[in-house]
Amino acid sequence: MTLQELIERRETSKWLVSALEECHRAAHTEKELVLFLFKQTANNVYKSTAFGYEDEKLAGLNELLDELSKYIQSFGNLIPNRNDIEQKIEETFSHACGDTRQPINDVTLWDWSRIVAALYKASLAEAVLKGQKNPEPTKWRLFSVRLDGLEFFGKGSRLPDLLARQKLIGDGLNKIRSLLEETYPLGTEIYRDENGSVFIVPDLDIRELKNESEENLLDLIQQAFSKGTLRDDPFLKLRSEILPFDKVDEDSWEWTNPYISVKTPQQIMDQHNKPMPIVAHIDREGSRLADPSIVDSWWQHHRADICTVCQLRPQGNIERKVCAICEQRRKGRATDWFDELYKTIWIDEVADIHGRVALIVGDFDLKQWLVGEFLFYPQKHWDEKNPTSENPPQFRQGAIRVKDLDNQPVNEVQFPNRKYTRQDKTGLLVTDQHDHSLAFTPPTQFRSKVLHINDPNINVIVRDVSLSPKGHYQIVLESKPPELVPGRAYSIQEQEFYLSNDGSYIETASDGAKELIKDKLLHFRSFKVEKSYILPILEPPPAQMVEAQAPTRMYRIWETTHAFWESVVSDFEKPALVSKVPGRLQIEGTFIPVAGAGSLGVSHTYELKLGNTNLSIVCKSPQIYLTVDNLRRTAKLLGLSEEKYKDATEEVKYREATKYLQELLKNGQFDVEEPTGYGSPNKPLGKLNITKADFHDTAYTPAISILTEPRTFMALVPADKALQVAKAIKDRYENEMGKVRNRLPLTVGVVFAGRRTPLPAILDAGRRILKQPTETAPWQVKKVNLGSYPEKVLLTLGQEQDESPTLILDIPAIMGDGITEDVWYPYWRLERETQNPVKRERLFKGIDGKDWVHISDLQEGDTVSFMPSRLDFEFLDTASRRFEVSYNDKGKRRGSVHPARPYYLEQLGEFEELWATLKEGLATSQIDNLVGLIETKRVEWLKYQDRDKSDFKEALETFEKVVEEIIRNAEWKKDYLTETRFNSLLPAAVSGLLADVFELHMTILKERGTE
Ligand SMILES: [Zn+2]
Repeated sequence: MTLQELIERRETSKWLVSALEECHRAAHTEKELVLFLFKQTANNVYKSTAFGYEDEKLAGLNELLDELSKYIQSFGNLIPNRNDIEQKIEETFSHACGDTRQPINDVTLWDWSRIVAALYKASLAEAVLKGQKNPEPTKWRLFSVRLDGLEFFGKGSRLPDLLARQKLIGDGLNKIRSLLEETYPLGTEIYRDENGSVFIVPDLDIRELKNESEENLLDLIQQAFSKGTLRDDPFLKLRSEILPFDKVDEDSWEWTNPYISVKTPQQIMDQHNKPMPIVAHIDREGSRLADPSIVDSWWQHHRADICTVCQLRPQGNIERKVCAICEQRRKGRATDWFDELYKTIWIDEVADIHGRVALIVGDFDLKQWLVGEFLFYPQKHWDEKNPTSENPPQFRQGAIRVKDLDNQPVNEVQFPNRKYTRQDKTGLLVTDQHDHSLAFTPPTQFRSKVLHINDPNINVIVRDVSLSPKGHYQIVLESKPPELVPGRAYSIQEQEFYLSNDGSYIETASDGAKELIKDKLLHFRSFKVEKSYILPILEPPPAQMVEAQAPTRMYRIWETTHAFWESVVSDFEKPALVSKVPGRLQIEGTFIPVAGAGSLGVSHTYELKLGNTNLSIVCKSPQIYLTVDNLRRTAKLLGLSEEKYKDATEEVKYREATKYLQELLKNGQFDVEEPTGYGSPNKPLGKLNITKADFHDTAYTPAISILTEPRTFMALVPADKALQVAKAIKDRYENEMGKVRNRLPLTVGVVFAGRRTPLPAILDAGRRILKQPTETAPWQVKKVNLGSYPEKVLLTLGQEQDESPTLILDIPAIMGDGITEDVWYPYWRLERETQNPVKRERLFKGIDGKDWVHISDLQEGDTVSFMPSRLDFEFLDTASRRFEVSYNDKGKRRGSVHPARPYYLEQLGEFEELWATLKEGLATSQIDNLVGLIETKRVEWLKYQDRDKSDFKEALETFEKVVEEIIRNAEWKKDYLTETRFNSLLPAAVSGLLADVFELHMTILKERGTE
């Protein structure tokens, strides 16, 4: 049977529609009937990420749809490229939601239709393949092709090797995708990362299918992958250098509609569909080795060393120590780069002024999300009379945050249309509960915003009122009227006021004037309304969380984290992060080879010997070369001092450096060398007679993104920008994932290295950092600060063992409109309640059977589950230092070298504070002394580690006393060492944090103290 027959057959026409309907439901249907859904207000509709961050206000959908339909009409009779159409549809559909009610506004029309299409395509394929007359395909399987991507492309000894090998894998996977999506339309790719792809396929073992020439599909897949290449060049293809694993689900999975057979809310809640089993596919690591018979064939009639890149074939180019294929791939990557000079692929361009780079790594632990454990929402109110009614009333309260200028507590206020009472928990003033049919119109900020000044006869508009330290009201004006003179007195209803010297506010000058403001502007004697909110009313306990694990929702998870990493990279160019470098130098000159050397090859890199330093260049075309180095660093090594413009921007410094080098290079003659790899001397090739050195105006960001996968991130940045980048990642995480940070840990690592450190060692160190365990642990709630609720909650957590630090987490609890309280995402698992807890209003039995409490209902003394995020770093002063990056089962570093590592991500701020304390208070040599003394004492103390416990404890006390002495006796600037500073230094010095701050800022980044 063919697809056409399936479509044209009378008997199946009904099935075609019902199957589509079923796929449609399977893609998204969660249990909407029992979820607490909330309508967003018109013209204020947001879409959400999978983690409750409402990142985009939706508008202009009709225009987008018009554009899309014009695009589709434009095809006429032509058959357009499928990828182009997909992309165009995505551009439109990703700006609309399948359902705009919170919390299911996390699924865009794009996610939804894409998954429906994937399911339907597999269903149709199954019906055709099985020749079913009355098909019932409501089951699917996942098929995956997986490999160890990083292991493969991490072998490249230079960046162009790595980037080329990464492209090879990408192209191989693209070829598999087009085989399975187009050549034999069986399935749809729904997941891809550096380690391969996952497809939704029909409910059968597709590997065994055969085509018309009796070729097995699995063989075709392997063949397609092995054809992965660069620039369509068959010489460069993957062949059998890496063989991916394939896996198909042994059992199918399905998604039955809970509404068909069951009727009561409880029955709907109890119905369970197993989530799409993606974890079984993506949690495997490792690749098969290359095919030995093919490797043997490469070595026939060859006796050479092995290629340093692929580590499979004999070397073809002895100088560069690579085989012919790897050499061509490297060269090809460089050639491609000539068309994208706004980027860099050269590590020397990334290196900072001290010649150092940093590999930033990151990893989201998504495991429990991808098995569906963390996908749930609160249930809704059940209308007892009509339990399955689609639209039961939504209850809510209006709320206002008021500020009393005279600091009197406001417990109850009666406005003309509503009464407000103080909510003890948050301090907000709230209305009675009402259903959504009643609109909530909050009171205005002030009773009135207008004041009339008698002379001149004008009105002024009030923006804000605050209390001065002397107890007078300052009335901030929207704008200063030209008629008024700053500093002068004015009269309002016979009371005296002054206009401030800058003209921005008027201030009361008497008690009578204050009384007048209370009467005219402030509410109920002395308060203003700062902000208003809507607080949804949830089902009181006992109530349940409802699982929400449909395929689209899972798809959203990796889409969200993938987009997160892409945004991190697109921010690199910002001046506060990596920022851009204005350009390069283009050199023209004639090459005079030494005896026996050939000419210089296009797309190859060389080094120019300039006095005591080398300048990296790449040959762009015969006689034309581009610099691929940090020119500021080169100029500095050649004697350019930045002292004269030390306060200038980096761009100015860079331009000065290029000018300096231009002068130096012009009409000069310099030796050209070939770099031969780490640890070996360069090979002299000849001399370059330079005739021209022009500024080549192509600004680029000196950073290289290596991975922005759903889970893993890797990028190379200049070492001196690494902390800013790490902080930007932390800030973005707290903002976008903060609501679920208790269950979505992020590991961040920084590997510092010199630019000549072998790349595989740097990558290996990064990979080791990402291998640290992320574990859920019980933490105690020390404090819940709702002072800025619901914008955010400041939650202080600590652990019972006293050596671990206290963390203050800043948790957002508001939706994108800035008004609606988030009652869907910020829930914490309660392990143990505090003694005598206050009654909680938002407590749900989770899908794991545990109690989940809304952030606003956590109480001091509660014990909660928390998966903390981590931060670690390592400086590879030698390549083998990476072996020190290894963790015990408690998640701490093995060995005694860095006792304080890894850190909690939240501690990143402490690094900066401690460094500021050190560098402002001590001279460079004194910082050296201080940390050196402490660390020497630590070594003595650690000798007691193997003794019995009481000895060790005693030694620790002695150690602490000694450290205290050392800090007090350091030569601080006069009166600098306050008790506050001392109290932050002491624990940091004892734990080893201070030594790490020293290493980071002084050893690695070469910063200095006060001089
Ligand atoms: Zn090779």
